Amino acid sequence: MTREGMDLMNTKLLSGDTSSRTTGARVLRSKRGLREELEPVRRRGASIGLVPTMGYLHEGHASLLRAARAECEAVVMSLFVNPAQFGPGEDLDRYPRDEERDLAVAAEAGADIVFAPSVAEIYPDGFSSRVEVGGTLTEVLDGDRSHRGPEHFRGVTTVVAKLFNTVGPDVAYFGQKDAQQAAVIQRMVRDLDFPVRIEVMPTVREPDGLAMSSRNAYLERPDRERATALSRALGAVEAEAAAGSLESALEAGRRELAAAGIEPEYLEARDAASLEPVTALGERPVLVAVAAPVGAARLIDNVLIHPQTPPGR
Ligand code: AMP
Repeated sequence: MTREGMDLMNTKLLSGDTSSRTTGARVLRSKRGLREELEPVRRRGASIGLVPTMGYLHEGHASLLRAARAECEAVVMSLFVNPAQFGPGEDLDRYPRDEERDLAVAAEAGADIVFAPSVAEIYPDGFSSRVEVGGTLTEVLDGDRSHRGPEHFRGVTTVVAKLFNTVGPDVAYFGQKDAQQAAVIQRMVRDLDFPVRIEVMPTVREPDGLAMSSRNAYLERPDRERATALSRALGAVEAEAAAGSLESALEAGRRELAAAGIEPEYLEARDAASLEPVTALGERPVLVAVAAPVGAARLIDNVLIHPQTPPGR
């Protein structure tokens, strides 16, 4: 977009009186206000990128925003801690929040608009619809009833479908860190014909390998150190998979976790697209995913193992 076009859009984005602009990104709290703001953007044919988040932003979120900024003319970030995706006994009440800082980080990373609705705005009285992807994708790994359960993904797909309907993005950005979530959303988009392209961006890590997560804030010092075992375990899986069998690779991963005193909820290898179980490396990418309690946090991480190109090809 030209500088002039950009200025025009900024002027447009800054007009109106339904919100304040204190940080460089326009903050909107109502679906109606958001639609009104985006209407002229859409009418002009400008592309809209959406980055859904639950806030407490870190570099992982910022990488999605930067990707959106690079590709789209208008960038919307949603900031909503979605109660529907937390089970009873999960961490909804203590989920970390810092809206003021989030607004500054979002603006710095390229958000034009931050949509930060209340729970009542998203789930008004009488709300009784759900969007559900059925089958393996939502029943294994985190969707297994002994872990978070399929209701978790139903909460995710319901809110993401609502965001897609409210924002009408051309592209929506998700992180590989939540690989199962990305696979579920891709299936929802395909099954329900949402006119949006899904981009899945690489996992951003701390220098010591720990996958960035808002929940890392729960980690006190000794646990923060132990938490590095998750990425080490996945590194061991990757290295061993290149040389040996998938089973020995998973064994190597389990040993790393055990050495740090971590008992995983799961460490499993699955087809990266269907999440069906796999027992050997073959033609298709394999997702190795781990979830484990570490101190006060439940952490997840994963690695994609791509089929090896035979020598000479
Ligand atoms: P959350 O706020 O945790 O719901 O995450 C919002 C989006 O950011 C999701 O698409 C996540 O997959 C993505 N995300 C979270 N952590 C990371 C990370 N370390 N690297 C890349 N993307 C991430």
